[in-house]
Amino acid sequence: MLGSDLQWFDASIFAVLGLVIGSFLNVVVHRLPKMLELEWARECAEMSGKPMEEAAPYNLVVPRSRCPRCGHQIQWYENVPVLSYLALKGRCSACKAPIGARYPLVEVVSSAIFFYCGWRWGATAQGMVWCAFAAMLVTLALIDWDTTLLPDDLTLPLLWLGLLAAAMKWTPVDLTSAFWGAVGGYMSLWLVYWGFKLATGKEGMGYGDFKLFAALGVWFGWQTLIPIILIASVIGAVVGIAMKFTTGLREGGYVPFGPFLAGAGFAALFVGSSSLQGAIGL
Ligand SMILES: [Zn+2]
Repeated sequence: MLGSDLQWFDASIFAVLGLVIGSFLNVVVHRLPKMLELEWARECAEMSGKPMEEAAPYNLVVPRSRCPRCGHQIQWYENVPVLSYLALKGRCSACKAPIGARYPLVEVVSSAIFFYCGWRWGATAQGMVWCAFAAMLVTLALIDWDTTLLPDDLTLPLLWLGLLAAAMKWTPVDLTSAFWGAVGGYMSLWLVYWGFKLATGKEGMGYGDFKLFAALGVWFGWQTLIPIILIASVIGAVVGIAMKFTTGLREGGYVPFGPFLAGAGFAALFVGSSSLQGAIGL
């Protein structure tokens, strides 16, 4: 598949955009959980009648990023996606502390997914809306992996954007299938959760998983819920077993389910929901 000049052009623009968005996603993954924690602490303090003192603002924009070891403020030229990491050879320019390889990796992966969307849909509403889908899914997967949280600030917009996209016919899913995808996705995991809890007294997943599954049901239709949950379970089982053999990778041993749901969401994006349904004989 060679593609037309226009296809290459759109896909390349999207790829560059993906690098920049990927860089921003790193910030969201790092800061959003901390912002939520601060907010919860503030609410608790207010309810207990002892409001917290006004602290310096902490959000996605301020303060400027710093090296966590030496506090060196990261300059704009040290913050260029991928290139800065390569130029700095993966180390802080001041104290030479290693910078996580995940930062450039997230940028490269985002860029690749955006390239794919630009290639497949061009510079259209469809192309952009699927990029937004991918960006939110990457962010949710990483935050859940790091903190076992799937923030409402991401799962709910993902769900609403999917409904909007279905209504505007930017996704191949009709609005009715999208609606039942949300209901079916939420209800099914809710039932599994309570069944599991009543039977074992343990919590196998969290409410964020229901919302994420509901959102995927919106983007791919209720018909794809079963393939998605099967793929997520298989990925989860493989990763779970792999981690059993590489002990010490994760304290407490709790493996969140969100990253695997997100992985299944990407499978549905790349392979197509109808192929997935066909693969399991639906
Ligand atoms: Zn440093």
